[in-house]
Amino acid sequence: MMLKIKRVPTVVSNYQKEDVDDDGAHHASGCGRNCLRSCCIPGSKLPLYAFKKVNNVVSGKGSVSTENNDPRIDILGSLLFGEWEDRMKRGLFRYDVTACETKVIPGEYGFIAQLNEGRHLQKRPTEFRVDKVLQPFDENKFNFTKVSQEEVLFQFEASEDDEVHFFPNAPIDADNSPNLVAINVSPIEYGHVLLVPRILEHLPQMIDRKSFLLALYMAVEAKDPYFRLGYNSLGAFATINHLHFQAYYLAAPFPIERAPSKKIATMRVGGVKISDILKYPVRGLVFEGGNTLEDLSNVVSDACICLQENNVPYNVLIADTGKRVFLFPQCYAEKQALGEVSSELLDTQVNPAVWEISGHMVLKRKKDYEEASEENAWRLLAEVSLSEERLQEVKELIFEAICCKIEDKIVSSATVDESDEKPESHEDVDAALKGLQFAMVPV
Ligand SMILES: [Zn+2]
Repeated sequence: MMLKIKRVPTVVSNYQKEDVDDDGAHHASGCGRNCLRSCCIPGSKLPLYAFKKVNNVVSGKGSVSTENNDPRIDILGSLLFGEWEDRMKRGLFRYDVTACETKVIPGEYGFIAQLNEGRHLQKRPTEFRVDKVLQPFDENKFNFTKVSQEEVLFQFEASEDDEVHFFPNAPIDADNSPNLVAINVSPIEYGHVLLVPRILEHLPQMIDRKSFLLALYMAVEAKDPYFRLGYNSLGAFATINHLHFQAYYLAAPFPIERAPSKKIATMRVGGVKISDILKYPVRGLVFEGGNTLEDLSNVVSDACICLQENNVPYNVLIADTGKRVFLFPQCYAEKQALGEVSSELLDTQVNPAVWEISGHMVLKRKKDYEEASEENAWRLLAEVSLSEERLQEVKELIFEAICCKIEDKIVSSATVDESDEKPESHEDVDAALKGLQFAMVPV
């Protein structure tokens, strides 16, 4: 049986319409939409931000350091927010997100509620297939090459000389498919953008090592812990099957960032630490540290690739300027398709994607906003989480995958941490350790 849910898709671009029919309009001056396809790219220019590829370095005890002594701090932030506000002035957004009410829900966790009534007004619900995390790219559906260049803020590429550079007018090099940063025309917070890696390669929504490293670089380069990046897989509330990350600025800690964690393993090669998230409604893992940014990136991407290959939907949050990455396998859409979610929760129409899971609840009804409580947020998010047993199985798959991949190249893999203080939930960790030891046996 094919599992599907109905939902109103979020419009991320003003050019995201089902009726786009512009074939045959390929002539010298383009198709008239100033898009990002072969009709309009020749001769086009966009700003280019070239980031410094600081893939270093151990600072202190094995944590990723961004080693930035650049006095011109936060150039990326200034560029991004400046361009974003420019698009707001030009009226490209569907509503004014800065006018949306936001509050911190009283309680231990500090869940953040936003009332966003503008996000879903329009369109009939569409059916989304939720039982396949990997689906082939479909040229006929909306993809980011169809957006207008005015929605694009800049190109984001590694610099060639280890320095940050900015070019206000750089040609779009179609032969080296550029990474683009574009606005999300249905923002959920200030500076909400989409990072589309190698846009012209038409990559489906799936994580690979190179693209994930790019997203980490963006978090590092933004230098601001309030600027986070997120990723939703298909089946975990991504609605566009063209590889993209989201990012925005929110000047408050996300509840997930304050949740305690319990270290369960350290990769012997690379030094990346992996922990269980504790005392949080959605079960998941945190990855941090590592000798280099690439170490951290590779371990997380390999974990994501493993989930994709095993058809487990998931969400990822990149926090702390790229120093911590949260990974949540989830099953809400599957439960929804099977009719296992209560109508009370369904009525809120909240789609628990990465931001909601991290604790930023975007609510569509005034009633839900006014009645927002920690208990309600918790109840919704608890439905997103895998069961303890299922998570254990998934963790075993992940550890098998990340250890084997590293063993292919070098000798050893990871060590299970036994030294740490006892966590709140002994059962959880004992189970985790058993799973790990199993996965850790060299083959
Ligand atoms: Zn065009």
